Amino acid sequence: MKILVLNSGSSSQKACLYEIGNVLPGNPPTCVWEAKIEFGERMASISMKNAQGARQTEEIQSSSRREAVERLLSTLADSKFRVLSSISEITAVGHRIVHGGPHFEDPVLITREVREAIAAVAELAPLHTTAVLEGIEIVEEVFKDVPQIAVFDTGFHRQMPLESAIYPGPYEWFENNIRRYGFHGINHQYCAGRAAQLLKKDLQSLKIVSCHLGNGCSVTAVESGRSVDTTMGFTPLDGIMMGTRSGSVDPGILIHLMRRRQLDSQQIDRILNHESGLLGISGISSDMREMLKAVKQGNQRAKLAFDIYVHRLRAAIGSMAAAMGGMDALIFTAGIGENSPQVRAATCERLGFLGIELDQHANANPQLDADISTQQSRVRVWVIRAEEDWTIATECWKMVRAGLVGKS
Ligand code: ADP
Repeated sequence: MKILVLNSGSSSQKACLYEIGNVLPGNPPTCVWEAKIEFGERMASISMKNAQGARQTEEIQSSSRREAVERLLSTLADSKFRVLSSISEITAVGHRIVHGGPHFEDPVLITREVREAIAAVAELAPLHTTAVLEGIEIVEEVFKDVPQIAVFDTGFHRQMPLESAIYPGPYEWFENNIRRYGFHGINHQYCAGRAAQLLKKDLQSLKIVSCHLGNGCSVTAVESGRSVDTTMGFTPLDGIMMGTRSGSVDPGILIHLMRRRQLDSQQIDRILNHESGLLGISGISSDMREMLKAVKQGNQRAKLAFDIYVHRLRAAIGSMAAAMGGMDALIFTAGIGENSPQVRAATCERLGFLGIELDQHANANPQLDADISTQQSRVRVWVIRAEEDWTIATECWKMVRAGLVGKS
């Protein structure tokens, strides 16, 4: 079965093609073909890689997202880099949907009604949703009758206990779907399952804290395989500090900015989503690599940004452990989680009281999907590679195998 996964971002479009047999492999396989489009002001750059590691880059002189995505899809079968003899070989296309709103939990076949329901919550993740809806439309035009499946980043958190899900505003908020949804669920769920597999333990018996630290960052408490609390909320702006997002701040600050500086919703949106976080505090960059370089050079604002980031992450881990009455495993995943020994070490430094003890050598040189805690550590600490695309592909595979979708 050949399954194409599309992961749409506001300024990029990733795609990954998997070939899956009759049995799902225990470990995520390398995808047969992966590609990424980066959109610039007047052009787009498409980079592709096949399973043998060969690379190809192509530039398109157009600012049209549609043109670039169409080109990307057509290279599957018509470039010298092609991996299919015909695009009709594709069994299904899976899409990562950031916000499923109040209606979606499990993956679904994309129909007109599903598209409308996704569009109805677009304002909660506008850039992503516009991109994904356009992607769905393009796939429909290019691949005709290939089934498309939506997998939701909010899905894993839909059964969160109400005390975690409901904000302590007026109850009417909850009645009108203003509640915590949580995000990064596809990867948090995958990582919890992978940790249980690596620990050779039943997921049902474990209390896991999963830290997804990429450009967006969130921490989730996974108890008995269920998300029971998470830091992101109604939107992906809530929770811990991120690259350009503030995470949680006193809502009184927003009231102050509106009253005293007459800022409107658009200006506040820009500040909190794009001018805060690591970038906002350091004034240097939202990229943790740049931040660490600047810290090394003695930049005080970068050091402050790093310290706030770690302080808030640590507090979130403690809060998630408290929500579960303890923890058995801590996971670091995504760009920063997988690649920054400094962040992991600083975060764990004061978590000894929870039974967390890092093996400094293992932390400095981790293999992917490796335990980086000491033998004595009561809590196992894992670095696990984020595998959103593979998880989406397996969900599509399951739906096709169950006969829930098929080419019409
Ligand atoms: P996204 O959320 O866009 O998928 P990623 O998971 O790729 O993002 O994570 C991006 C973040 O990972 C950036 O802050 C980047 O600086 C950080 N990162 C990537 N490699 C490293 C590294 N070697 N050391 C520290 N941070 C890293």
